[in-house]
Amino acid sequence: MSRDPRYDLLFEPIKIGPVTAPNRFYQVPHCNILGHGRPHAEAANRAVKAEGGWGVICTQEVEIHPSSELTPFIEGRLWDDRDIPQHRMMTDGVHEHGALAGIELCYNAFHAPNLYSRIAPMAPSSIPAHGINPIQARAMSKRDIADLRRWYVEAAKRARQAGYDIVYVYAGHDMTVLQHFLKPQYNQRSDEYGGSLENRVRLTREILLEVKEAVGHDCAVAFRFATDELKGADGLQAESEGRDIVAMLAELPDLWDVNISDWGNDSSSARFEPSEGYQEPYTAFVKTLTRKPVVGVGRFTSPDAMVSQIRRGVLDLIGAARPSIADPFLPRKIDEGRIEEIRECIGCNICVAQDMLSAPIRCTQNPTQGEEWKQGWHPERIAAAASDDAVLVIGGGPAGLECALQLANRGYPVTLAEAIDALGGRVSRESELPGMSSYARVRDYRENLLRQRPNVAIYLENRLSAQDVVELEIAHVLVATGARWRSDGIGRQHHFPIPGIDRLTVMTPDDVLDGAPVSGRVLIYDDDHYFMGSTIAERYRDQGLEVCLVTPASMVSVWTENTLEQHKIQHRMLALGVEVIVSHELVALAEGKATIANVYSEAQRRQVDFDTLIMVTARLPRDELYQELLAFEDRFKSLRAIGDCHAPGTVAAAVYDGHSAARQLESGEDIYAPLFTRDLPVLE
Ligand code: ADP
Ligand code: SF4
Repeated sequence: MSRDPRYDLLFEPIKIGPVTAPNRFYQVPHCNILGHGRPHAEAANRAVKAEGGWGVICTQEVEIHPSSELTPFIEGRLWDDRDIPQHRMMTDGVHEHGALAGIELCYNAFHAPNLYSRIAPMAPSSIPAHGINPIQARAMSKRDIADLRRWYVEAAKRARQAGYDIVYVYAGHDMTVLQHFLKPQYNQRSDEYGGSLENRVRLTREILLEVKEAVGHDCAVAFRFATDELKGADGLQAESEGRDIVAMLAELPDLWDVNISDWGNDSSSARFEPSEGYQEPYTAFVKTLTRKPVVGVGRFTSPDAMVSQIRRGVLDLIGAARPSIADPFLPRKIDEGRIEEIRECIGCNICVAQDMLSAPIRCTQNPTQGEEWKQGWHPERIAAAASDDAVLVIGGGPAGLECALQLANRGYPVTLAEAIDALGGRVSRESELPGMSSYARVRDYRENLLRQRPNVAIYLENRLSAQDVVELEIAHVLVATGARWRSDGIGRQHHFPIPGIDRLTVMTPDDVLDGAPVSGRVLIYDDDHYFMGSTIAERYRDQGLEVCLVTPASMVSVWTENTLEQHKIQHRMLALGVEVIVSHELVALAEGKATIANVYSEAQRRQVDFDTLIMVTARLPRDELYQELLAFEDRFKSLRAIGDCHAPGTVAAAVYDGHSAARQLESGEDIYAPLFTRDLPVLE
């Protein structure tokens, strides 16, 4: 297949200062927590995207000096010349595929508590360090400012030596010193670096000029700038100072990389920003003020939306972090006319959560993400089948679909049996919840490809029993029958059933997703802490029911702090009029009445009335079939439970497990002790 001429525009080379990007696909800087601790993995992770057709590949944040280091987050590091070789590995890998390499040099100032270097962080003024660390940043002296300018220049020169083509000056995400100087909230200086906008911009202007002077002859200088903080007059706004700053610096950088701040707004989840191009209202003005190319993001996955951005003069280059994580080969697929094969990002922010947990990147849609070097996994290639054996996959949820697809890609004859009349399992059901529709993409991408594979037979409405499976006489059996929510209250807070629960009719999320009738006052008990409790609350509140959500945690959906959604969810609950009771556990239940107690003080008890009680606590593997099949294990060459049936978890975990099982089939690998490749420290 070949490219649709409508998309030719996306493949035009674009000049960025002294360098030229081969096309308009631009992987903007994004974290992956591989970084300086796992340099081989970092290099491989970036190189595979260059192979997939991204014209520019950038690093994550790269520390330029120990006085601003990001421990415990393992990002990039370029403190001195000894760090150059690992960057060279990254740039070589990117160049090999004809892409440009960009480096996001950053100085996080009071956003970095310096837990490793123990140097007091700096800020424009004396203010508490970011977050809740009991650390205060000191106000930068004139000498500190001079030092910072020098460090930037030295780092830029090292970056050039390491082979980067684009060097960033970075003022965004509420994370970096240059943005802190721009904001009156943080900059209360009375010298020439504070006060008027001209003064607050001074440091950025100086650094842009000095970096250009140092490396600008053969290296482009990009300026990453957040035009708006979505805080109205309490923050930087695109309609006022955001615009003024762009106007003041318009022709200084070789490239404007624009977005919105903070990270939770920039990487908004699909639950809160369902549309592609959601940043356009805040960034579209930039191109009207500069002749330099502009790159911006907005979870772009469709080539039509990308073309529209360019034709309408919004952007010159299509920036992507998450879409490039979900599909490193997105540009190639457009180029080769394989649009339906694009693995679209679902905006779940599991990738972001890994970063928040300071753990290596993973992705719901792309199970190979972060595993390129560690396990040698390629997003588009997989080893051929080791035999002609047939394989049976039971269950068409995320685990079964991914496993069946990869086994089919390997060339095995695959039978996929699904109990009900549709594929998708939990993602089909959960995508019906408010804000969750994008999760259906996990099914759609895989179902579409599976239906095209000649070596795959899909049988819907085929609930298999152990006897059925044995009679099929298929060599390899993978059981992906999922999990069910429990109704006894056992979860994180409760290790025994809640007293009185056995005498009540209790609903679980499975009943909600089955569409069981609900009436009166709804009480949701959320001891799961992810999206389920709050999305159910939203569903019933939207239907006009009275809803009360009780959780033992101190916040609603507390785990979603990692997906940068928690504050938005809590806000939405309150805006919808959901009664939220945090830090309370269920201690007893009777018909229509729940007794709840404060988790910090049992003595503080109260009663909550309900007509419908929904327990969102924990799940149990739906593994009865697998357990029965174990009795016949000698009838198969291999038998394995995968996904939620093996261990209930996230959709990302199920997809990963399905993928892993497909790769491991007949590989000889010990599935419980895979031999990862890992970076080892060099002992000098
Ligand atoms: P996972 O997240 O691990 O993929 P899901 O719960 O999403 O799990 O999907 C499990 C799928 O397995 C569901 O679509 C369910 O209908 C199907 N299933 C359950 N039991 C059987 C069975 N005995 N035979 C065939 N399919 C089954
Ligand atoms: Fe997109 Fe989710 Fe993958 Fe992140 S983890 S790239 S949000 S699909």
